[in-house]
Amino acid sequence: MTAVKWLLSGLIDLLYPPICISCEERMAGEEVICEYCLSGLEPTNLGNWVENITNHDHLDYAYSGWYFDEIFQQMVHEMKYQESRMVAEIFGHKLGTLLRNELSTLSIDSVIPVPLHSARLRERGFNQSALLGRALSEVISIACSEDILFRKRNTVSQTKLGADERKQNMSSAFFAKDIGDYTRFLLIDDILTTGSTLSACAEALKSEGAQFVGAVTAGTPLPTKSTIKDIQNAEA
Ligand SMILES: [Zn+2]
Repeated sequence: MTAVKWLLSGLIDLLYPPICISCEERMAGEEVICEYCLSGLEPTNLGNWVENITNHDHLDYAYSGWYFDEIFQQMVHEMKYQESRMVAEIFGHKLGTLLRNELSTLSIDSVIPVPLHSARLRERGFNQSALLGRALSEVISIACSEDILFRKRNTVSQTKLGADERKQNMSSAFFAKDIGDYTRFLLIDDILTTGSTLSACAEALKSEGAQFVGAVTAGTPLPTKSTIKDIQNAEA
């Protein structure tokens, strides 16, 4: 940043102090979201919940950082639709800190962000999963590889599809190449719903020789907290 730009942005901050996207209070030194709101994100503490995911055929492990509550939704919206790289980086770092111990037991060779189709990447300018992955990989000190897994075609938006249709939509949407000596991978994405995207990614990696593919997402709207309690009660 040039000195003029730096001075200008300082002046703008002074005249219009940055407002937290969640509580809309003025922030003192924080960016995008205030510390108070950030600390209000609710960790799922679900541990590895791969068995509870609808489409987990090719996944060996799954962890979602937080529940999809109001603060989380605002952050995802900001990250995806307001194209905030900063939110993705904050999320990725926080996720890395949250999961550092948990992930150290998995002996992961490489972190792999769920890729966007190249046309979509050009259109949007960045892949939020890649930003999450880079930030997470920095915290857990495992390389982030963006030249192993690719998206073949532009799949239709998943939002209106049911679980089976999602699986169909995603099957063979990805391919992997040049996995080298790596055998254990950790996929990263923003949200986990049915798992169809992550499972399709895992399938592509395994067809190239991967032995273990886990997935980490920032959040999950499913299962709801009450169904999780039901699962735990049923097991108890
Ligand atoms: Zn706030």
